[in-house]
Amino acid sequence: MSDKKNNKKNNNKNYDEDYNPRFRKQRKKVCALCSDKNFNLDYKNYDQMKKFVNDKGKILPRRTTGACAKHQRDITIAVKRARHIAILPYTQN
Ligand SMILES: [Zn+2]
Repeated sequence: MSDKKNNKKNNNKNYDEDYNPRFRKQRKKVCALCSDKNFNLDYKNYDQMKKFVNDKGKILPRRTTGACAKHQRDITIAVKRARHIAILPYTQN
């Protein structure tokens, strides 16, 4: 019981404004598809599709791609289509 209290005390460190691991300042990513109106998401375009998967072939999350919810859905569908026609791998190793 007393140990628990001590741990809580230790966690209440006063971090500097510039370095707080819990609230790190993040630059808000802008959706690439929203910002560029000429951007045409094409599931047959390998160079475009590979930006949205990691080296294991998994679809990157929104926090990484920076895409809005609407376009992340489009990206997901496009990646899945690309996998189906063997442009992208389902998995690697
Ligand atoms: Zn968007």
